Amino acid sequence: MLSAVGPPVTVRVPAKINLHLAVGDLRDDGYHDLVTVFQALSIADEVSVTRAVRDAIEPGVTVSGADGVDVSEVPDDTTNLAWRAVEALARRADRQPDVRIGLHKAIPVAGGMAGGSADAAGALLAAASLWRLDMGREGLMEIAAEVGSDVAFALHGGTALGTGRGERLVPVLSRHTFHWVVAVADHGLSTPTVFGELDRLRARPEAPRRVGDVEPVLEALASGEARSLALLLGNDLQAAAVSLDPGLRRTLRGGVDAGALAGVVSGSGPTCVFLCDGHDAAVRVAAELAGAGVCRTVRVAHGPVPGARVVDGDGGS
Ligand code: ATP
Repeated sequence: MLSAVGPPVTVRVPAKINLHLAVGDLRDDGYHDLVTVFQALSIADEVSVTRAVRDAIEPGVTVSGADGVDVSEVPDDTTNLAWRAVEALARRADRQPDVRIGLHKAIPVAGGMAGGSADAAGALLAAASLWRLDMGREGLMEIAAEVGSDVAFALHGGTALGTGRGERLVPVLSRHTFHWVVAVADHGLSTPTVFGELDRLRARPEAPRRVGDVEPVLEALASGEARSLALLLGNDLQAAAVSLDPGLRRTLRGGVDAGALAGVVSGSGPTCVFLCDGHDAAVRVAAELAGAGVCRTVRVAHGPVPGARVVDGDGGS
């Protein structure tokens, strides 16, 4: 048992989508080089970290779900990415990971929106604040990159160009708030399986076409024009996600039929995101898509939003 001592530090941390995701060929080490443009959306998990007294070997993770979010597949043991992040931080700070972590999830699980990575980033920031570690954002970003490829972006937020495995980040100028409709599926897709499917499809003579260069996407973001950006949304993993889950074709068509400017599979899927021409248009598209029976739930969101930030508590001394 772990008993909680003292007030928690609570962090809000956003989901990500990929506006552009170019996947390189499989490397010898099993990874793929990525060139991606991330955007943080206004769908966020809440991560709270509380000081705990350890008198038995109990990993301190409690998981709950916001309305409609199925958390049955989220581990509450030491395999949870948030726990692994706190362990990495504790090692760096030469102390015990003597905390209880509470996760309240609004980000769809295994949905291609990096929910696990978001929780890891939130837990890093919350524990660093609870323990009053003086390592700055840069120090946290370094640990984040070790914990997982999307963790650094969840700390960073906004809009960013990611290279390497997605962990090397450069901020991208984005002048505008973009309005999105997010179509959540009633099941998840495993990220490694989707990458494996892409390798399989690429080995065939009729390999899927690759997305174009990233520069026009960066220009559209700088101009702030949703209509220009809509023409350029692209994801090399989409063909693989659709191949594993052909129903996604209907979802993608459903969003455009409902009036979205364009739709794309988010990351490894199966969540699909639709760019809309303003907030009111997004509300209309969401209502129509919800009635079309092509996904489990529909959410309206906007981006970019900031990365992980403390919303309550500073940990005390
Ligand atoms: P990504 O887009 O980064 O590949 P994802 O959004 O598709 O990820 P996640 O929600 O991060 O997927 O979860 C993938 C798997 O990771 C889950 O099925 C679960 O078993 C495991 N997992 C570990 N920690 C967490 C966590 N804190 N939240 C959600 N899933 C977690």
